[in-house]
Amino acid sequence: MSTPDEFARTARATLDALERYARDSSRAHGPAIGIGPLDDMIERLDLRRWVRDGGMDEHGFAGFLERYLANTTRLDHPGYVSHQLGPPDTPSALADLVHGRVNNITTVYELGPAATAVENVVTDWMLEKVGFAGDGAGRLTHGGSLGNLTALLAARARAVPESWKRGTPADLAVLAPASVHYSVLRAAAILGLGEDAIVPIASDSLGRLKPSGLATALERAEAAGRSPIAVVASACATATGLHDDLRAVGTFCRERGLWFHVDGAHGVSAVLSARHRHLLDGLDLADSVVWDAHKMLRTSAMCTGVLFRSAQDLARAFDQEASYLMYQDVPGNDLGLQTFEATKAPIGLKLFLNLAWRGEGGLGSYLARQYEKTRRFYRLIRARPWFDCPYEPESNILCFRYRAGGNDLHLEVRRRLAEEGDFHVAATELARIRHFRLTIMSPETEAADIERLLDRIERIASSLGAPPVAEPVAAAAKPA
Ligand SMILES: *Cc1c(COP(=O)(O)O)cnc(C)c1O
Repeated sequence: MSTPDEFARTARATLDALERYARDSSRAHGPAIGIGPLDDMIERLDLRRWVRDGGMDEHGFAGFLERYLANTTRLDHPGYVSHQLGPPDTPSALADLVHGRVNNITTVYELGPAATAVENVVTDWMLEKVGFAGDGAGRLTHGGSLGNLTALLAARARAVPESWKRGTPADLAVLAPASVHYSVLRAAAILGLGEDAIVPIASDSLGRLKPSGLATALERAEAAGRSPIAVVASACATATGLHDDLRAVGTFCRERGLWFHVDGAHGVSAVLSARHRHLLDGLDLADSVVWDAHKMLRTSAMCTGVLFRSAQDLARAFDQEASYLMYQDVPGNDLGLQTFEATKAPIGLKLFLNLAWRGEGGLGSYLARQYEKTRRFYRLIRARPWFDCPYEPESNILCFRYRAGGNDLHLEVRRRLAEEGDFHVAATELARIRHFRLTIMSPETEAADIERLLDRIERIASSLGAPPVAEPVAAAAKPA
């Protein structure tokens, strides 16, 4: 039987274990990643036996937790430089703990009065930051992918209001560069437009949308008998961390009366840094913006704002009644009909506490520090003759290539690094060429760690037969 006493006692022991975990991870005691075949992992954690036999008690839990933590990917670890997921800040972690015991939701006001108030205030703050104060409206949702789907649902509702009841007409289109996040393609498929309804906007060799390609894409859509419901740009693109020119796209959309959606899942947080805000110039021209707090605002997964310039667009997106559930006489207090989720976790609390505790300034300095470090890492990688960086990073995402190896070598080096465990890097293709991709999320990662990573890559590559005999190009001779 669950008792408050049992919870408190076991939670205290859990906190002790987590404290050791965080301290060890951030000091690089233990691997950045401990990965092996999935079946071995199930075995190692004895999962099937626990499910079959039960019987876990405090003692059993302590042992299990230790093994569980030993098999995590440690996001605080200085060698963890792979994905857009980071170590949550303390206030966010506290919010998760509170939610885990309290379990209020924001579907209807009566199931989470404080949680609903928090969500309202947090979305108001996000609206103000993207320039939608006044007429705007927004909701929190579980991730940027759902956010993109919500925004495009709203765009469809504006273009074809009856589509909620009658379904999606066959002649709609969405204009987007090929570098757009795959969730935008999924959204087109889920909404019944179909992936083929995405009309590509020309992009440069790094995948950035070319503003000069906008008119051509629109003509191509119209020539194919399709009417565009939205134009999508990225701030920033997931693969490269580079920003599309929002002002150019926004201006074009205003002139042509098109819905402008900014997928700012990763990069919109840069509005909090005076040094980096310029990357988002033109954001206020958008009709909708998606902004993940679990990327650069240091919450746990997930917490996403889906924000609309006009409250009417949000209201129209979900054109449905559910009178059995929604009986608040104050409109707008029951948030459940304005998101996909029915039961929705009070995810706003994580962002609220980070903001209340660290302040906008504190969150902005974290971002600025990670972005500036990444630029230093870029210089350091470029200075090494065997490595090539195709562009100067604008965010904390950085791609580079080992000059003497092809696509397979990059994948093999990445695999071996993960097997050794000290470094975890990602890999992505830019114009079909495999690159290592770093996302600098841990506050602990410093230049010395990147130097060690590069040494390690060189060593693994040469053990695989690269570099070959040819001399590397001197760093000074490389194009800027
Ligand atoms: C991360 C990301 C997404 C997906 O967001 P999730 O929160 O992972 O669902 C969408 N678009 C961009 C540009 C991203 O970087």
